[in-house]
Amino acid sequence: MDYALKIIEQREFFDSGITHDLNFRKKQLMQLKAAVEKYETAILDALYKDLGKSEFEAYSSEIGLVYKEIDFVYKNLHKWVKEKRVPSPLTIFYSRSSILRVPLGLVLIIAPWNYPFQLLISPLIGAIAAGNCITLKPSEISSNTTKVISAMISEFFAENYISIAEGDGVVVVPELITRGSFNHVFFTGSIVVGQQIASLCAKRLIPYTLELGGKSPAIIDKSANLKVAAKRLIWGKLFNCGQTCIAPDYVLIEASIYADFVQELINAAKELGADDFNHAGKIINKRQFERLISYLQHGKIIFGGAIDEENLQIGLTIIENPDFDSALMHEEIFGPILPLVKYASYNELIEILNINRYPLAVYLFSNDRKFREKIIHQLESGAIGINNCLYHFVNHNLPFGGVMYSGNGHYHGKFSFDVFSHPKALVRSSNFPDFSVKYPPYDKLKLKLLKLFT
Ligand code: NAD
Repeated sequence: MDYALKIIEQREFFDSGITHDLNFRKKQLMQLKAAVEKYETAILDALYKDLGKSEFEAYSSEIGLVYKEIDFVYKNLHKWVKEKRVPSPLTIFYSRSSILRVPLGLVLIIAPWNYPFQLLISPLIGAIAAGNCITLKPSEISSNTTKVISAMISEFFAENYISIAEGDGVVVVPELITRGSFNHVFFTGSIVVGQQIASLCAKRLIPYTLELGGKSPAIIDKSANLKVAAKRLIWGKLFNCGQTCIAPDYVLIEASIYADFVQELINAAKELGADDFNHAGKIINKRQFERLISYLQHGKIIFGGAIDEENLQIGLTIIENPDFDSALMHEEIFGPILPLVKYASYNELIEILNINRYPLAVYLFSNDRKFREKIIHQLESGAIGINNCLYHFVNHNLPFGGVMYSGNGHYHGKFSFDVFSHPKALVRSSNFPDFSVKYPPYDKLKLKLLKLFT
């Protein structure tokens, strides 16, 4: 595939200025919505084939979110593209200052396999809204969904505006970044590949956004409503079989309520049918399945542990006393396995949390206001959910993104528009007056005036 040629065509199209036009952008957003509507059944089928996603999960976390995001951006875009007036200091009198958000140019969006539709199309919405030309790189691992997305994009958009680069990321992505002359790379995926993307971009000074993973902890304080906390946690872990970047990875439980909470977790797991494969989706492939199975020996299984190798299914498995030196407690689990850890004091809690610092999310279950405030301010994480799991992802009024190892940059709603546009500073000055005080030669009087008026 000659990516270089496609990129040249996209550059020509971008330079024509067509994508700068607000009406063009709004029309493309509606075009995208029509495309998703036409392909909705095919997308649902593909998500079932790739991940065994139920229609409920697939609609709520992939297709429905995309519709909502398109409508929100469409409705608000006219406000975001407007030049924003800002005050000017006296030193540049008589001038008018403003900020204009302009398109970046050509952007590359790279997506992973776990929410293969939504994680590719959601950033695309922001990139269209901001007036860019786009190359999409879906995951080759969720191959059924990728095939459908490819057909959908090719049918509804011209290649010199939005194109698809399919294939093995190891080969395709470096080729795209080294030959593509992109103005921005937006990557969602693992930390290891994120590092490679960052270094590929750094060599060419291409700005990038990294939406990465990591181990997002849940904390159960003794003041928490244990029943509600247990149910919400199990729900958050079961969603997409735990293959969610913001899934609760492991749980820290205050020692005095440990036994009670474990019982509530088991009750909740049974209530939500976690011991029955029929309700569950599947692990994406054999490689991930085997990685997860190897974690089962890193602690004591107190619930679940069932596996179905033929259908790549793993039942929700709760593990006590996990080995802190094992991969289970160092790598992102990304599957339906939930290790439990007891903590006795605040200091011990922070010590344990700092082993896997900078998570994408923290879930804190507590009804103690002081304790909550302490955690909110002390922990460095992309987001904090109080008495909930995963909720922040679906609110397009919130920025979604990580810190340090869990990524940099944010998107969703207006934040997506911002990430794919550049805030251009504008200063418009009149020819008069043209005070001589700013021009050399400088003397004491001019310095005095400068100090007086600035
Ligand atoms: P991955 O990093 O292996 O792959 C992501 C994308 O990068 C794919 O399109 C792939 O083709 C490409 N790629 C793979 N190897 C590459 C290489 N060497 N050079 C360049 N590109 C390469 O991630 P994955 O396994 O598809 O997804 C799982 C990871 O993604 C988890 O760590 C998860 O936490 C993370 N994730 C993060 C978010 C978020 O929003 N922060 C969302 C979903 C998933």
